[in-house]
Formats: sequence, C-alpha cells, structure tokens
Amino acid sequence: MRAMTLVRTAPIEEHPLALQDLPVPSPGSGELLVKISTCGVCRSNLHMIEGDWLAAGFPAKLPIMPGHEICGRVAKIGSNVDGFQLDERVGIQPLWTSCLRCEFCLTAREHLCLSKEITGETVDGGYAEYIVAKAAHAYHVPDAIPDVEAAPLFCPGITAYHAVRKAELVPGQRVALFGMGGVGHMVIQFARLAGADVITVARGKRHRELAEKLGSVSTVDPSAGDAVRQLQRDGGLDAAIVFAPSNDALRQALAAIKRGGVVVNGAATEPGPLAFAEEKRLAGTVIGNRQEMREVLQIAAAGKVEVVAETFTLAQAEEALLRLKRGEIEARAVLVIA
Ligand SMILES: [Zn+2]
Ligand SMILES: [Zn+2]
Repeated sequence: MRAMTLVRTAPIEEHPLALQDLPVPSPGSGELLVKISTCGVCRSNLHMIEGDWLAAGFPAKLPIMPGHEICGRVAKIGSNVDGFQLDERVGIQPLWTSCLRCEFCLTAREHLCLSKEITGETVDGGYAEYIVAKAAHAYHVPDAIPDVEAAPLFCPGITAYHAVRKAELVPGQRVALFGMGGVGHMVIQFARLAGADVITVARGKRHRELAEKLGSVSTVDPSAGDAVRQLQRDGGLDAAIVFAPSNDALRQALAAIKRGGVVVNGAATEPGPLAFAEEKRLAGTVIGNRQEMREVLQIAAAGKVEVVAETFTLAQAEEALLRLKRGEIEARAVLVIA
C-alpha cells in the first residue's frame, strides 16, 4: 500500500514525510482492516511532524503514518468482531483504543484513559491506503455523509461538540470563539444548535468571513484594537471557547467573560492569574468520548452541521500541511486517498 510516512521530525518545509510502498497490515482479534477513502489534516499532525511534542513523547515511534480523522470501508474483519460487515463505511477518531477497564473508561470518559493509544501518534494513522482499527473504537458512518465531509467529523467534529458541551450553553447566551479553522468552524455550528449567539475572534479576513457565513453573529479582529473591550460590548459574554494556540487568546477570553462565566480551553497552556472572587471557571477539553462521537455523526447525517473542506491527494500531504501552517486553509484540508 502507499503511505505518506513520517521518517524524522523536522519543519514541514524540509520534507519530513516520504511516499512509501509498504505491506498492508493484518487485523488481529477485535480489529478491522479499513481501506481508507479520506483523512483530514489536523494542526496537531503538524505539531507532531515538526517535533513540537517530542518532550511529551509524540510521535511514540518512527517511522509513523500521521493522521487521525479517517473515513474508509471495512476490507477485512479480524476474529472476535461483531456488528461490522465487509465494505461498510466506518470512521476512526484520535482515540484509537482505550483500556475499557479504568475509572475513566468506566465513566464515559475513555478519552482520558491513561492507557489509551492515539491514532497517528502512538500507532499508525490515516496518511495511508489502509489502517487497522479496533472494532470497539470504530464508528458506522451514515449514508447521508459523503466521505470528504465524514473524515473531519472524527477530530474537529467531536472536539468541537465536546467543547461546546463543556461550556454548558443555554439558549440566549453569548459565547466567544477564539480560533477559527477546522475545530472552530464546527464550534460555531454546535454552539448555535445549543441556542447561543457566537462572536468569533480571528485574525484572518477569510476566517472571519467564513465564521459569519456559518452563523457567527459578529466577528472581532484581535489585531485591530482591544479585543477584550470589543467582546464586552452588547451585554458581555457568558462563555468563551479557545482553540487558538495562543496564551494571549486564553487570557483575553478569561478577561472578557462575565463574572461566573466559563472558558473552555483546547489549545493554550498558560492562563495567567485568576481572580477567585469573580468565580470564573476554566475547563480543559480534549477530543470526546465514543457516545459523543456517535451523536456528532447523527447530527451531521441530519444535515444540521456543515463540514467545509478543501481536498488534496495523499502525495500532496506536505503541501496541505504547509498551507495549514501558513494559515491558508479556510477550515479543513482533507486527503482523498481512494
Ligand atoms: Zn485532529
Ligand atoms: Zn481506560
């Protein structure tokens, strides 16, 4: 099979990926072999490829195939698998597997499992023609969702949905989104479905235009003056969701929300001082659990959210990553592999 393999971590301009011809893997007990049709290109792929996460232990092996938002068809079924048929469409999210026994797995928080494996970071991912998936962590893809739109549901979709749930929005509330892109464009739509008004903070003009097209009530350019003051107009903010990989954005979000509000953070690391008497809350967020993944697929199949994607071939993976790095991808780049 053809695969775009990460052979060494390096800036994407230095071509760290190689197009290789490799043997097709075999599914073991409880596993499926999936022939990949589409795989999304995530900013976290770029971080891992460029070596930003070496200290955290990712990639856990080299060479490795990156890619963790995957749609494909069942090509082989391993032993001890129920509920899947040959040729049916399935998807795989970043949570490649979890132990199913620990306190997190037993309380529908398997994405926090300490023994989890991450697709494309600890095991081979979707920049390839085939992947082995765990049947317990594979999902049926409804017919109504085309392959190109399905792939991004498995990372931006689930990540946005879980973050919006963490914000505990109720109809009529106002929420700011920091960071427009793959996840951000889904956050806007899920927050609107929760009944909230969304104000999007983004530097790029194309990103702000897409935010408004997807239903953001207004947008703020943080490079054009005091973003916090702009956000505090019109009655203030009940919540903010941060997917901009920027500590400034996280601090602006905490400053801009009303007393008692919540900031859901999926990208930045240093929130700065927090005045306890204002009762502001800060919640981390990372992907989501398997039940939430199924809910995302149902919502998308009902046509209630739209995935915006630009397509590339497998061999163009580096070009897609380079354009993502330069801020030139409006929402999501997707590799069309078969
Ligand atoms: Zn991702
Ligand atoms: Zn576990």
